[in-house]
Amino acid sequence: MTHQIDTIALPHGRPGTSRQLTIHQFGQPGARPKAYIQAGLHADELPGMLVARHLIDRLAALDGQGKVAGHVVLIPMANPIGLDQIIMGGHMGRFDLAGGVNFNRAFADLSDPVSARLAAGTLGPLSADPEANRRLLQAALSQAAGEIRTRTETEALRKLLLSHAVDADLVLDLHCDSEALMHLYTTPCCWPLGVDDLAARLDCGVALLAETSGGNPFDEVCSTPWDSLRRGHGGPATPIPVGCISVTVELRGQHDVDETMARRDADALIDHLGWRGILDVPAPAMAIAADIATPLAAVDRVRAPAGGVVLYHAMLGEQVQAGQHVACVLDPMTGTRHACHAASDGPVWARSRNRYACPGDILLSIAGREVLVTSGPLLTA
Ligand SMILES: [Zn+2]
Repeated sequence: MTHQIDTIALPHGRPGTSRQLTIHQFGQPGARPKAYIQAGLHADELPGMLVARHLIDRLAALDGQGKVAGHVVLIPMANPIGLDQIIMGGHMGRFDLAGGVNFNRAFADLSDPVSARLAAGTLGPLSADPEANRRLLQAALSQAAGEIRTRTETEALRKLLLSHAVDADLVLDLHCDSEALMHLYTTPCCWPLGVDDLAARLDCGVALLAETSGGNPFDEVCSTPWDSLRRGHGGPATPIPVGCISVTVELRGQHDVDETMARRDADALIDHLGWRGILDVPAPAMAIAADIATPLAAVDRVRAPAGGVVLYHAMLGEQVQAGQHVACVLDPMTGTRHACHAASDGPVWARSRNRYACPGDILLSIAGREVLVTSGPLLTA
């Protein structure tokens, strides 16, 4: 049995308080491939925590049979700060109330410190062997994460999570949307390297691709340093692979907390870990639905033209056409119904579950094919 459970106290807490993070590990530390999985970075997104619990049970059983070939690190409740943010009976788990920042932004991009060490000759050298380069840079990223300086409890949480993830070969960050189909976010480099297999196993409706979506979310600070380091230091004599396949998995909507769905999702993740050789389990081949992938910059965000009561005319998963009347916002005082129209053809993959809108609020998201956003951040708040 290799299952290890560690509980780590977060530093920088306010006097008289303490918070802690519980980390499960399966397999021999140092074994490869390494997978890192976390749930609940947005602390009010519960589907991932339920899936994580099922994963722990499945992994513990497989561990008992000696079938953990690689190393799996699993954090089922990744945000003890957000878990404690109950405001007048409502849970506020997306933004850090102390600093106002989204918990899934502002992670450290470790490209620069690792690049500086390569340039200074204090690391390396890189060789013609991409696997050796991968291990060298994973160790360097891990060391750089350990050197991050923190002043607040939230910064310490970000450092702790990143330190466990940044040297992994596979990172899965489990989230959910407001109301949504199963979908995922990854980079164009990662998508063909098995994320398409993961999407097929999870029965994703959409896969949203961007190299950089803005704001340094967790998945991107694990994957995009490899792209930066390849541009700066890679070449025919020093090939730098896509060292970390990193994915944000969106397990439908916030209310999709269901034991049957969670068990099925955990099964899909276990099969994917088997497909990657991290677990010694048979993983039948999947038919890949390549056409679900689209640029994140092609997402059509349908916004409320005025404030009022939201009435949807398009269902989740519905294939809509550009110009289609997909929602209206009713002003109950005047009776005016402000129509909202799609700008793109594509499936409606997310809707706001908030039926009271302010002007400019995003109501629906449609997976278009043509790039609509050419500057600024691609993610919503
Ligand atoms: Zn989230």
